[in-house]
Amino acid sequence: MQQENEQKRVSRRRFLGAGSAAIAAAAGLQGAQAQEKTAIRSSDHHLKGESQPVQGNDPLDKENPSSVWAPATDSGGQPPFKYSFSLSHKRIEEGGWTRQVTVRDLPISKKMAGVQMRLIEGGIRELHWHVGAEWALMLYGSARITAVDQQGRSHVSDVKEGDLWIFPGGIPHSIQGLGPDGAEFLLVFDDGNFNEFETFLLTDWIAHTPPEILAKNFNVKENPFAESPKKELFIFERDLPRPLAEEQRQSEAGTGRVPHSFDFRPSEMKPSKVSKGGEVKIVDQKIWPATNIAAAIVTLKPGGLRELHWHPNEDEWQYYVKGKGRMTVFAAGGRARTMDFQEGDVGYIEKSVPHYIENTGDTDLVFIEVFPTPFYEDISLAEWMAHTPSRLVDQHLKTGEDFLAKIGRKEAVVVPE
Ligand code: MN
Ligand code: MN
Repeated sequence: MQQENEQKRVSRRRFLGAGSAAIAAAAGLQGAQAQEKTAIRSSDHHLKGESQPVQGNDPLDKENPSSVWAPATDSGGQPPFKYSFSLSHKRIEEGGWTRQVTVRDLPISKKMAGVQMRLIEGGIRELHWHVGAEWALMLYGSARITAVDQQGRSHVSDVKEGDLWIFPGGIPHSIQGLGPDGAEFLLVFDDGNFNEFETFLLTDWIAHTPPEILAKNFNVKENPFAESPKKELFIFERDLPRPLAEEQRQSEAGTGRVPHSFDFRPSEMKPSKVSKGGEVKIVDQKIWPATNIAAAIVTLKPGGLRELHWHPNEDEWQYYVKGKGRMTVFAAGGRARTMDFQEGDVGYIEKSVPHYIENTGDTDLVFIEVFPTPFYEDISLAEWMAHTPSRLVDQHLKTGEDFLAKIGRKEAVVVPE
């Protein structure tokens, strides 16, 4: 035992010895602390003289360089704000599959949850509703959606790649994959506790209501639901729907159509902001009256940066559609952490907590920011500094007032401008 401890001490001394030598060599001059910190950092993510005798989870390490070798400005302490759909249980049914990321998977995501769903051609997500609102982005293919509002007014439409829909809380709805290859889409809910496997399903409700009540409810002698499924259908495959115009006419008879469409096509709007670094489309209740969930669809070109900012009104739920990026979240009290993101990852930032997103790949980075509130709001660091007396800011940061005078008067959103 004593010998073992002695060996440990020796190897620790050796390790520290190599480290201090490297620091001394690289720092050269007077060893300012910051200089020491940079000096021990190498491009291969190893300390000088450090071997890697123990094998880790290599593919995961490669996807997460900012965790393996954090920027010197990180200080830990911030709980994880990333989860990947790849780690979620996938429920597979005959007509498609689904998986979810909720507060049970990502504890920081208290106010929002997300679902990925694939429906094959003809695959139906059963008629259902839930307490929270459902905001959706079509990732691939096309689908027929249906819904009915509080006044019996109907919405039936076909949505395709890039389109959005909103089903406000409590509004019953369905989704069916169309030809030639069905659809894949992302759903976002304004409820971190949401559970896609515990929604109010049409079949489930009928199966749990006494038959004589069903007969009485529809004013018939015999229960017309005797052949209805005894178990939920959830996702199932059937024939394709009838032509759109025909189904709209049938569903709208007597009550009409919902006054504000439940779907929205960002492809038909101009970007809210375009710069050299990319562009952003802000889709909220100002341009889409039916939605009570706000979103920004952001495209960053390689090297582009979604500038330093925060959102004073709500938490932000992110989904990375394509490309690679990194995000640092500064959570006050000196807590800061950087995490890496790619296709299929979810990110989460609490209200008023500042962050940036940088494209670290060599292709466009596309991600969405979703907020459980009707209107989008943000405050950028640059805009704050530009509209604060420059002497005051300089007294804090020692940048010189010339630098401050050159900051744009309007927020860039995406840089470079
Ligand atoms: Mn739903
Ligand atoms: Mn943001």
